[in-house]
Amino acid sequence: MAPTIPKEQWAQVIEKTGGPVDYKKIPVPTPASDEVLVNIKFSGVCHTDLHALNGDWPLPTKLPLVGGHEGAGVVVSRGELVKDVEIGDHVGVKWLNGSCLSCEFCQQSDEPLCPKPLLSGYTVDGTFQEYCIAKAAHVARIPKEVPLDAIAPVLCAGITVYKGLKESGVKPGQWVAIVGAGGGLGSLAQQYARAMGLRVIGIDTGDAKKKMCLEQLGSEAFVDFATSKNLVKDVQAATPDGLGPHAVILVAVNEKPFQQAAEYVRPRGTVVCIGLPAGAYLRAPVFESVIKMITIKGSYVGNRKDSAEAIEFFARGLIKAPFQVVGLSELQMVYDKMQKGEIAGRYVLDTSK
Ligand code: NAD
Ligand code: ZN
Repeated sequence: MAPTIPKEQWAQVIEKTGGPVDYKKIPVPTPASDEVLVNIKFSGVCHTDLHALNGDWPLPTKLPLVGGHEGAGVVVSRGELVKDVEIGDHVGVKWLNGSCLSCEFCQQSDEPLCPKPLLSGYTVDGTFQEYCIAKAAHVARIPKEVPLDAIAPVLCAGITVYKGLKESGVKPGQWVAIVGAGGGLGSLAQQYARAMGLRVIGIDTGDAKKKMCLEQLGSEAFVDFATSKNLVKDVQAATPDGLGPHAVILVAVNEKPFQQAAEYVRPRGTVVCIGLPAGAYLRAPVFESVIKMITIKGSYVGNRKDSAEAIEFFARGLIKAPFQVVGLSELQMVYDKMQKGEIAGRYVLDTSK
């Protein structure tokens, strides 16, 4: 029997850049021929959603905007061209809501680089609502036995850090520093790194995040960026030979670590930039970059295959990162805590509350 779809739904709406977010009723959208309508059950809150609210990036959002791009839910209707997603399927709505599928990048499975992307919670309405539209070709497939609250953060944070670790080229047994380890991306990055056989140094601040990284997430060492007197030395000293990590995964929301990583990464090592602090620039000393032969690169979400793989790691029970569930109505509280750097792990919104 076809599910009943209401005409109206609760959503968190941004009317103007800078906010606030307004919890109110809006119409339920209708999917186009190549789209599905997903009853979002849970949505993670990513720092990208806060960047969108604050207007941090040189790319304007649509307005009014429903944010959110870590949505896990159930397909309740589909356009007439959709044949391979069924009503009742569990799916994830990701940052990349849709892409053209015909440009050079889409052809070679680099669809995040498509010049005409649809971005959930940025250029199209996202997952901070009960019913969300997504292009059928791009929804992530979630096995029915996987809990929808726990998988939500994987749909952006998990996929992104898994891809970033692959892009780093680091091999099992080697060391990786996760910078911003206590946040949403960072906590999942430690779990993926461990599952991939890597050894981890967590970098963040505060006793709560330190404890979480060392006792729960698998870091073997923790460097507190706020209290360390010499961060570069401390990170290098965390590896047994003192030469520093083979790779650095930058998921911090401040510029400074983007200007330190090249100094402590091991010769031949790779610095992977993922975090997107407002107005930030990368900096690296030319002398050391040359004589250490280091690589500095960016990494941006993941393609559909990366997404499927990241979900499979989770489904196999290898990924356990902390999250707290609160109602969709409490999004502003989550943003306030995130702005202050007070969130250890991820907040997940229950759209029914
Ligand atoms: P978050 O707020 O959950 O976590 C950020 C963490 O960085 C916090 O724990 C904070 O304490 C820590 N931090 C701040 N300054 C630091 C410093 N100097 N050194 C080390 N740690 C520091 O944020 P999140 O949701 O994990 O997102 C992180 C960033 O990644 C955001 O900028 C977001 O937009 C970006 N992002 C990028 C992609 C991509 O595809 N490249 C995808 C998703 C998110
Ligand atoms: Zn995100």
